[in-house]
Amino acid sequence: MATNERRAPKRVSRKTAKGNQDAAALRVTQLEAELAAARKTIAALTRDAAQASGQPSQAERELKEKTIALEAANLELRNLTQNLDQIVRQRTRALAESEAQLRRKNLELDRLNRMKTEFISIAAHELRTPMTSVVGYLDLIVEGRLGDLPDDLRRPITSLRRNAHRLKRLIEDMLDASRIETGRVTLRRTACSLEEIVLAVIDEMRPLAEDKRQKLSCEIAAVPPIDGDADKIHQVVVNLVANSVKYTAERGEIRLHVDAHSPTGDGPVMARLRVWDNGIGIPPALRARIFEPFSDVHTAKHHTSSGPDSAGLGLYIARGIVELHGGQIEVDSEEGRYSEFTVFLPLADRG
Ligand code: ADP
Repeated sequence: MATNERRAPKRVSRKTAKGNQDAAALRVTQLEAELAAARKTIAALTRDAAQASGQPSQAERELKEKTIALEAANLELRNLTQNLDQIVRQRTRALAESEAQLRRKNLELDRLNRMKTEFISIAAHELRTPMTSVVGYLDLIVEGRLGDLPDDLRRPITSLRRNAHRLKRLIEDMLDASRIETGRVTLRRTACSLEEIVLAVIDEMRPLAEDKRQKLSCEIAAVPPIDGDADKIHQVVVNLVANSVKYTAERGEIRLHVDAHSPTGDGPVMARLRVWDNGIGIPPALRARIFEPFSDVHTAKHHTSSGPDSAGLGLYIARGIVELHGGQIEVDSEEGRYSEFTVFLPLADRG
């Protein structure tokens, strides 16, 4: 049995030895790979450990930089807000001051305006009485009712009379304007005919238009009576036609139209008067100003007669009178071609 147990070592074949060598080499390679992996793990762990022990990472550094920048921006914003607050406070104070100043100036302007209106009213009243006497006597002299007028005096006295009449008109315009401004105009309203008023004005103004060889015509449709102060409406129409004569060249044309129409096109019907001329027209920028007092938009060179025949009050008075009636006045124009003034007046029977 013992002999059986003590067996002679087996003979290792060359082939088996080669296999063992390969297996060992493979194992070495595996061990090397495992070693490399372990090294990597150790490096990572070392890094983590370093981080954990207070070394800032890239992300942390960026975060820190951003926080610092944000704080700086915050500080700047706070400073700016403070500056802005200061600026706003300063501006608000300045604004309040200029507002107070403006209010004081407005009050002062109101006071000066009242003084001006009062002065015009007093001056006009004071001038009216002597002027009425001057005009009256000059009329009597020119008409020969105070005896024959020597030939060598006829021309100067006639000129004196014409200018005295102009001055009287101016004084009356100044009085009317100050009455309108202070709301002291009283209307004596009746049911009156716009047609009759217009025809009377045309008769009155025809000689003036003929002096300039202008064509003055009218077209009148049947219109119910208006609820108006005939004298005041007459004054409005005279102002409009006189302006057309004044601001239209020789041989120009002036047309008047009367009909009934609604100012808005679809509202209640009113009496409508249009005064059209193919005169010098009114530039757009100045159209809004012509109804203001003393708005002599065109320079004296356009005036056909020399002398103080206009104070720029005619349209102001016209608008005042028309609006007191509850009517309205409008203008349409093209410079160098035409002007058209339209007046709407309430009808007596508005039913
Ligand atoms: P004025 O006495 O100067 O004519 P108005 O108040 O009647 O004063 O008119 C104001 C201004 O409006 C005039 O100076 C003139 O420039 C302008 N105007 C009025 N009517 C006409 C018109 N028919 N054609 C051209 N301009 C006009």
